[in-house]
Amino acid sequence: MIYYILSDIHGNYDALSATIEEIDMDEPGHIICLGDIVGYGPDPNDCCMLVQKRCEIVVMGNHDYAALGKMDTSYFNVFAREAIAWTQDILTPKSRAFLSTLPFVVVREPATFVHSSPMEPEKWDYIFSYGTARLNFQRFNTQFCFVGHSHQPIVIVQEGSKIEVTLEPVVFGRNGARYITNVGSVGQPRDGDTRASYVKFNTDSLKMEYRRVQYNIARTQEKMRKAKIHQYLIERLTVGQ
Ligand code: ZN
Repeated sequence: MIYYILSDIHGNYDALSATIEEIDMDEPGHIICLGDIVGYGPDPNDCCMLVQKRCEIVVMGNHDYAALGKMDTSYFNVFAREAIAWTQDILTPKSRAFLSTLPFVVVREPATFVHSSPMEPEKWDYIFSYGTARLNFQRFNTQFCFVGHSHQPIVIVQEGSKIEVTLEPVVFGRNGARYITNVGSVGQPRDGDTRASYVKFNTDSLKMEYRRVQYNIARTQEKMRKAKIHQYLIERLTVGQ
């Protein structure tokens, strides 16, 4: 079975539609979304509709949760907070209804799907250290766990007591090893590559492959300007940070 796993779309419809167009030209498979469908970008409703239509598994992201008014955004930086307030204003009842149905975690062998961390999905922690990674490996039972949240494509591998990190674009799952794979971000990449990021995962060969998709950044930025979204958020799409 093929899974196409994407995350952190952040209201960027141009990036999402370009990604799905590319997936549609590839082998048949199931599309999975790891959350943060909205927040930052200019098209939250279009993104909700397309995700609802095309993704078979969708989990809740912190920006989705915040847009629903279900969490305190005071720990968000000022740009994220402003963007959430803007998103709350334009979200349709239909988008809101869709986002409210999203679970925090979905398990579909051989993988667990969650936005932030399998340890405490509703706390939105980042897996930024070996110590946190070690704790997280104890908190899911499948061989693979796919996450988003940091917008950094990276694979954390646990084999016996050893934990390693790899930035390789292709990783084959090995027997006896377990993986936490961050699929990167479709709508706001932060690893210096401006293209949308997603992962193709083959559950038979256990091959995980990072893919990058070019999309019309200028068009997205124009929409953001019209929507009066903060200049910082507009510019960061051009640098991928
Ligand atoms: Zn995000």
